[in-house]
Amino acid sequence: RELVKHYAGKRGIFAGHREKVRAVDGVTFALARGETLGLVGESGCGKSTLGRLVVRLEEPTAGKILLAGEEITGWTGRKLRELRRRFQIIFQDSSSSLNPRRTVGAIIEEPLANFGVAKRERQERVAELLTLVGLGPGDAWKYPHEFSGGQRQRINIARALALQPELVICDEPVASLDVSIRAQILNLLWELKKQLGISYLFISHDLAAVNYLADRVAVMYLGKIVELLPAEGLVSQARHPYSRALLRAVPEPDPRQRTGQKPVVRGEPPDPAKPPAGCRFHPRCPDARDVCRQDEPVLKEVGEGHLVRCHFS
Ligand code: SF4
Ligand code: MG
Repeated sequence: RELVKHYAGKRGIFAGHREKVRAVDGVTFALARGETLGLVGESGCGKSTLGRLVVRLEEPTAGKILLAGEEITGWTGRKLRELRRRFQIIFQDSSSSLNPRRTVGAIIEEPLANFGVAKRERQERVAELLTLVGLGPGDAWKYPHEFSGGQRQRINIARALALQPELVICDEPVASLDVSIRAQILNLLWELKKQLGISYLFISHDLAAVNYLADRVAVMYLGKIVELLPAEGLVSQARHPYSRALLRAVPEPDPRQRTGQKPVVRGEPPDPAKPPAGCRFHPRCPDARDVCRQDEPVLKEVGEGHLVRCHFS
């Protein structure tokens, strides 16, 4: 609720900024059990930061995170440890997140060992998890370099599922994979969600991938949600000019046919340290009028479960 994350600058992609960077600037949303919320937007819009805030890898500057009505934002010690079991995160680059000197079995076993699961049971779980993600129990003895990029992402997914989390944040999980492999990993995530009832926060700049997996879609622009709607209405109902521009930039709605282009919206995203006055999208918006340069639009309901932040939607 009303999550805010400001950086003092000189961080990651914002390195070089001396001004305060408003990475996430007042974001509110809900995620139900077993639901997948897709979070889309260009790089630098704050979607990864939002994911890291939710799993408490970063602390918000302001705002709250609630889990079944209980505020988790201040959890420490045993409670935070419990959260580390219930919430997991999968990143884009599957190779750098796997220790090259450990066997796949040891990698997947690690979270189980951390949570005190006995050796015998751990080995059984590793075999189960490898099978669950489409690898085999015998793969436990191999090293990460013996696998392809797609298989390494399967290993990451197995590790993320080891502790039976309720929520998995997927931060661009297929972005670094070949197009043909991408669809396989998306299918696997889809199967796991159906089978295990996990909730996903699925972060991607790829609208087609998001549309394939998500129940609802949130579109972010410069730290704010500008549109939130059911995924089945994304193509036909999306109204925010930024969402429409992202949709036009998708060459092919079926992720299996994609060629890997990034969405192109005219103009460059503005400096997140100096967001434009009024509507943040106005310098790039084809529909901008005078009011857009002065007054910031609020997120308002335009239909069932459909919110839009635009003066003219
Ligand atoms: Fe475009 Fe104005 Fe709507 Fe912003 S408020 S998206 S500038 S029409
Ligand atoms: Mg990112």
